[in-house]
Amino acid sequence: MSPRPVSPLEDDRSAKRSKIKTSPPPPLPTVMIPEKVAEIVPDGDTILVLSVRSDAAATSIGLRVSSHALSLASSVFKGEFAKLEASRSQSQEETDIPDLVLTLPCDDMPAMLLLCNILQLQNDKLPARILPSLLLRLGALAGKYECVMAAGRATSQWFDSLYSAEEPGNIWDIVEAAYLWDEAIFFARFTSIWVRRQSLTSKSMAPATTLETQKLAWVLAERLSVVQVLIRKEIDKLVETCALTFSEDATHYIDYAPGLSPTASETKSGRPPTPCIVDSEGAKEYLGALRNARIWPSTCWTKSKEGQAIDTKVGELMEKIKLFKEPPYDDTNRCDGCAYVKIQFTEEPEHVQQAYGKRLWGLCLDCYKAGGINPGECRYQHSK
Ligand SMILES: [Zn+2]
Ligand SMILES: [Zn+2]
Repeated sequence: MSPRPVSPLEDDRSAKRSKIKTSPPPPLPTVMIPEKVAEIVPDGDTILVLSVRSDAAATSIGLRVSSHALSLASSVFKGEFAKLEASRSQSQEETDIPDLVLTLPCDDMPAMLLLCNILQLQNDKLPARILPSLLLRLGALAGKYECVMAAGRATSQWFDSLYSAEEPGNIWDIVEAAYLWDEAIFFARFTSIWVRRQSLTSKSMAPATTLETQKLAWVLAERLSVVQVLIRKEIDKLVETCALTFSEDATHYIDYAPGLSPTASETKSGRPPTPCIVDSEGAKEYLGALRNARIWPSTCWTKSKEGQAIDTKVGELMEKIKLFKEPPYDDTNRCDGCAYVKIQFTEEPEHVQQAYGKRLWGLCLDCYKAGGINPGECRYQHSK
């Protein structure tokens, strides 16, 4: 085989490579320590210089930290300090500086400050509440610095305060944050809240802000579709109980066994037999009550009483079903041919209400990570 021709460009590159190999190590860049250094840990051995890349004026902020604490919590910080130590030993001049100076590019100063405080166990400096967007960015940063485990404990109070807040803010931000922070309990809770806040009738997909959460947005949208179908099926079951009483199969006559349909000439009185209407009258009451509660038919979900277009959310319908009260109906005149529709109708809403209380409307983090149903024990308890 003939040798491959070498392009002038490649030749130039290989020349550069050999030059790099033979030349002495480049001098360390001059480190500018900012005038103001915030003391995260007053007796820390390191000055972390965070340079804001997005800032046109290229400002930087100094933080006094402990390299030991940061190295213990984060393998990325550990690696950075190891590189710094190695370069310091190569340069005699640098050893005169008592502090280690580590310069890091930083696009998100509030998140970085918070992360440093968490990793240095400065709990008194942590705010009681933070916005969902900051919790999310902090999660992304913790992932980048490989310290999700070490920093995660500090975030529980923030998830908790968002969960107990009347209006926690952007729910999808919190879902993404819970995923990045590996917070199984809050992940289940907030994915459920997300589902409950979506439309009952139309599809919806959250906009993923990180590469890692793109698949999650898709899986959660799928979950919403499943929930929408489930709700329709459960309401169908309520209605089916009633609809059966109007069917031919359910027609029966007073004083005649079920299935008997005598003609007028076959009756003792010579008149047509009297149909039993105990069930069908009850069914009318129940269907009317479902309609009054705007639970059924599904056209109630998209049109208000006044005829205006509305978009009922999953959670709104759940609330209506939870509050639904069976109308009073007296079926003491029922006969052997009756299908006991009152009893069935009483039981069905109770079943649905109980199922709603237990159901995981959103996603389980352990099951999601397992790609289906987690064979082991999930951190969030749910039926599988
Ligand atoms: Zn009857
Ligand atoms: Zn699970």
